[in-house]
Amino acid sequence: IGPSRFVNFPVADFTIEAERNAFPDSIATVRARMGGEVPLFINGKDVVTSDRLESYNPADPSEIVGSVCQAGVTEVDIAIEAASDAYLSWRDVAPEKRAEVLFKAAQYLKDTIHELCALQVLEVGKQWDQAHADVSEAIDFLEYYAREMIRFGKPRRMGRAPGEMSQLFYQGKGVAAVIAPWNFPLAISVGMVSAAIASGCSVVYKPAGISSCVGHNLVEMWKAAGLPDGVFNYCPGRGSVMGDHLVDHPDVSVIAFTGSMEVGLRIQERAAKVQPGQQQCKRVIAEMGGKNGTIIDDDADLDEAVLGVLYAAFGFQGQKCSACSRVIVLDSIYDRFIERLTEAAKSVKLGPSENPANYMGPVADKAAQKNVLRYIRIAEEEGNVLVKREVSDDLKATGGCYVPLTIVDGITKDHRIAQEEVFGPVLSVMRAKNMDEALDIANSTRFALTGAIYTRSPANLERASREFRVGNLYLNKPSVGALVERHAFGGFKMSGVGSKAGGPDYLLQFMDPRLVCENT
Ligand code: GLU
Repeated sequence: IGPSRFVNFPVADFTIEAERNAFPDSIATVRARMGGEVPLFINGKDVVTSDRLESYNPADPSEIVGSVCQAGVTEVDIAIEAASDAYLSWRDVAPEKRAEVLFKAAQYLKDTIHELCALQVLEVGKQWDQAHADVSEAIDFLEYYAREMIRFGKPRRMGRAPGEMSQLFYQGKGVAAVIAPWNFPLAISVGMVSAAIASGCSVVYKPAGISSCVGHNLVEMWKAAGLPDGVFNYCPGRGSVMGDHLVDHPDVSVIAFTGSMEVGLRIQERAAKVQPGQQQCKRVIAEMGGKNGTIIDDDADLDEAVLGVLYAAFGFQGQKCSACSRVIVLDSIYDRFIERLTEAAKSVKLGPSENPANYMGPVADKAAQKNVLRYIRIAEEEGNVLVKREVSDDLKATGGCYVPLTIVDGITKDHRIAQEEVFGPVLSVMRAKNMDEALDIANSTRFALTGAIYTRSPANLERASREFRVGNLYLNKPSVGALVERHAFGGFKMSGVGSKAGGPDYLLQFMDPRLVCENT
C-alpha cells in the first residue's frame, strides 16, 4: 500500500494558547543562537570561505542573523563536480526510495516548525502567520512531490501490440541549479529543490543573499532525511560573482529559477548558448514577475472585497509575485469601495513583524526599501495619493527598512505604476466604466500570473474565467496564498516558463522520458 492521499498541512490556529506562545518562545531561542558563521555545504561537508555576507534583521539592521560564507566560481565548480558524481547513483535509486527521503524531510520540518518560522520572522520580516504559511507550503511540496514521483515511477505499458512489450519511464535529467528568491525563503526553495531530488536529479542550490540563513535550513533538513552526500549542495554566493558561472556551466542540465523578470530572461538567454564540453540541452524553468489585477464589480460583497484586496496588496508588505498591485473598480461602485478601502488601509499598523499587532512590517532589506521608495515617488507623480501611511519618527529611529503603505488612484493603463512590478506595498486604483473595460485593463500588462474578481454575478464569474487571462485566477478570494495541489501555481506571458509549481506536471520538467521496446 502506498501513502495516504495528499492533504495540505493545516494553518496555524492562534486561538490555541500553546500555538500563540510557541512563536515568542521560538523567536527568543533562535535569536539567542543566531549571528554565527554559516558555511557552504558541498558533498556532505561544511566548506568555509573568507568572503562573507552579513544577513540582517530588516526591522533592525544592527542585528546580524548570520555571517554567510559566499561561494566563488571555484566552490561552484567543486559543487557541480560533486553533484555530477552523485547524480550517477541517485538517478538509479528506486523512485519509492527517493520519495521516502522526501517524506522524512517533511517530518523534520513538522518537528521543527516553530523555530523555522522564527528564523523567517527575524531574517526577512515575515509575520507569524505568513511564516507559518511558508513552512507549511514547504511541507506540502515535499509530501506532494513524493507522491507524484511514486506515480511517475511506475513504468507505463504503451500499446498492446502482440509480440511486443513497450514501456515508457522517466529518468532524472542531471545536475539542477536551483536559484531561489527570498520572499518565500523556505517554501519556494524546498519546492524547486525537492522536485529535482524526487525526480532523480542532484542539486546545486543558491539561496537569495538576504535569506541565506533560512536557506541553510535545507542542509539540516536533508541531513535529517538521510539524503546521500553530493545530491544536495548549498552554495550561497553573490550573483555578480558566481550567478552567470552557475548558469553557463556545461555540466548543468536544469536551471530552476524564481525571481524577477530581468534575471529570468537573462538566464534563458545564457542557458540557450551551448558551452564547450556541454552534453545536453539545458532546460530552464523560470517563475518571474506579476502585475496582478483585482476587479471589483458593481455588485461585489464589499466586506469580502475590501479585506481581500487589503490582504493581497499589503500582506507581507506586498512582496509576493502574486500580490494585488492594481485594483480595477467599476464606475458605479467606485466611490463606495474607495472610501472603505482607504479607511481600512488607515487602520493598518506598521512595525516589527515579531509583534503580531503589526499588520505590516519592514520590507526585506535596504535595497528593497530604496526601490519601493523610488516607485512611491513615481506613483505620486502619476496618480492622486489616497493613502500614504508615513513611517513614524519612532520607527525611523530603529533604522528598520520601513516604507509607507501607499494607495494612488487616477491610474490608467499607460502609467508606469500600472505596468512595472514594484514588489512592495503600493496599490494603484484604476477606474473602469464597465466589465468590458475592466477586463481590458486587467489583461493590459505583459505579465499573466494571478488575478481576482469580486462579483455576485454568475455571468461575470463565467466571463472572467474565460477572458481574464492569467495563470491563477481567484473568484471572490484574494490573489495570493496559493496552496500546493489545490491552487497549482504559475503564470505565462512574461510571468514565466514552465508548468505549475505544486501541480501535476511539475516533476516532468526535471526528467527525460525513455522508452524500451522488447520483441517478445
Ligand atoms: N505562491 C505564492 C502565492 O500564491 C506567490 C509566490 C511568489 O511570490 O513567488 O502567494
